[in-house]
Amino acid sequence: MEKRLFTELGLTPEILKAVDKMGFEEASPIQTAVIPTILTGRDVVGQSSTGSGKTAAFAIPAIEKVDTQQRAVQVLILCPTRELAVQVAEETGKLAFFKRGVREVPIYGGQSYERQYRALEAGAQIVIGTPGRVMDLMERGALKLNALKLVVLDETDRMLDMGFRDDIEHILKSVPEKRQLLFFSATIPRAIQDLITRYSRDPAWIKIEAVAKNAPQVEQVWFEVDRRSKIEALTRLIDVHDFRYGIIFCSTKIMVDDLDEHLHSRGYQTDRLHGDLSQTQRDRVMDKFHRHAFEFLIATDVAARGLDVNDLEVVFNFDLPNDAEDYTHRIGRTGRAGRSGRAFTFVSGQELYKLQSMVRWAKLDIRRGKIPSLDEVDEARTNVFFEKIRSTLEAKEFKPHDQMIDRLLDQGYASTDICSALIHLLQGAVAPAAGKTPSAPPPASARERAAPARPAAARAAKPAPDWARPVAAPGAEKAAPVASPVPGEAEVATKAKYERPARTGAEKGMATVFLNVGRKHLITPADVVGKIAGVTRLPASVVGAIDIHQRHTLVDVAESEVAVIVKKLTGIMMKGETLAPALASETA
Ligand code: ADP
Ligand code: MG
Repeated sequence: MEKRLFTELGLTPEILKAVDKMGFEEASPIQTAVIPTILTGRDVVGQSSTGSGKTAAFAIPAIEKVDTQQRAVQVLILCPTRELAVQVAEETGKLAFFKRGVREVPIYGGQSYERQYRALEAGAQIVIGTPGRVMDLMERGALKLNALKLVVLDETDRMLDMGFRDDIEHILKSVPEKRQLLFFSATIPRAIQDLITRYSRDPAWIKIEAVAKNAPQVEQVWFEVDRRSKIEALTRLIDVHDFRYGIIFCSTKIMVDDLDEHLHSRGYQTDRLHGDLSQTQRDRVMDKFHRHAFEFLIATDVAARGLDVNDLEVVFNFDLPNDAEDYTHRIGRTGRAGRSGRAFTFVSGQELYKLQSMVRWAKLDIRRGKIPSLDEVDEARTNVFFEKIRSTLEAKEFKPHDQMIDRLLDQGYASTDICSALIHLLQGAVAPAAGKTPSAPPPASARERAAPARPAAARAAKPAPDWARPVAAPGAEKAAPVASPVPGEAEVATKAKYERPARTGAEKGMATVFLNVGRKHLITPADVVGKIAGVTRLPASVVGAIDIHQRHTLVDVAESEVAVIVKKLTGIMMKGETLAPALASETA
């Protein structure tokens, strides 16, 4: 179902102004379909999922229909609970903000009659109430419905579930014959069918399909992930599936920046999009993304609105979206044009309930998945690597190196050993053996080790990933334990163990920078590399040895970049401290 601008729906300037003030950019599908029909005066049965904007779909035409000259109740909106009545009244109030002389009043049990009498006497034209209290006030003669033009039953299914059927029928029988009747409901069970047949005349049935059905080619999976383990879970999923092109959605700008920094420092090619960027900056990012100049776009919903990208392999919901509609928007960007795509959603803690209700209302076809263990990541990595070797052999995409091979064979090495040694070199110094190589760089993300052919792998030393933190720095006696449900963490910590040589001053081509944060601030090498790479957007390889002390850290960086690094880090917050970096020689 398409969406249109509110300006295309035949509304008055006052409503358009209010809608704009409320920040609505365009009408939702149910609004697009229903508003013009209601304005024609026809009865309507509107069916769409929760969060699809049904309130404005009936409140806008209701307001438009009010004759402000007449101080009598013209619109009656029935809701199942007082909370909903209040909510609908609030939204109606906002929508009627610029309509002079339109008044609305919520009516529900538990509130003093006095107040409600007064509001009614003052001439409210729109009454929003629960069936019980509405009947009550009708019987007391306080609520007169002889001028009524429009009756709305909001959440009809719930009202029937709550046993309001008799009250509703009673009310419908007491209102003028010539009135328009609207039913809104997420579902239309038998009992509602009956009400519709009995009380409405030739209604327009407008049903907005649950969106998941529009995107059947998207494989949807959710993962329960502890908040602190999200980044690790994300990188494992990317590595296992060998994704190269996708969008990662976060709920806030800060999250976007943070994740961008982290992924960048782990060797993924990322860029970001959020509301703080200028239009020119956004255009530049999108242009690069279209050209596949980087792999993952990290974005907020607002920024990613209306993006036109077609061939995404995956959409990650790093944070759960607010409602089913946002969810569907997000995942609609993958699996387009007949391709199959994937939508992976992270859920932590309480969000599980939110997801469940989204699944129920929007009938999402989503299954639960398991974050791959490190062994699985390893295996997938091996498979990718194997495939690469095989296809290179197949296509004969290599120059012969017979001479060197002959030399090695001459020295008595077996061909299988020679190949193993080469693979070992290609895959980088990882695995348990790495711990014995003092000069080995800390292992990077699985991806870094996995794909020697990709450009990112050309970068040298990478920070220790989060899961390696507890053992990352010598002398960091007790780093904070990383509690997490992601499997295999402990095992990795051992695998990733490595030792740095004792510091003897900066190597050639490197300069040492002093940072005023240290163990006291729970700083890890990964934090340092992440910060530098993230803030300067230089490759992480500009960072060399890192030496963390109690209150300060000495970090070697490429001499050619040291000025930029010091400049960019100055004044930046890190673990609650304002950084004041300096060349180490200046402070010694
Ligand atoms: P429903 O009744 O279908 O469950 P609501 O009417 O409660 O949905 O709307 C859900 C949310 O969406 C509300 O916060 C509402 O203000 C917002 N909303 C409604 N219409 C629009 C729109 N056209 N654009 C943006 N937000 C909207
Ligand atoms: Mg509603």
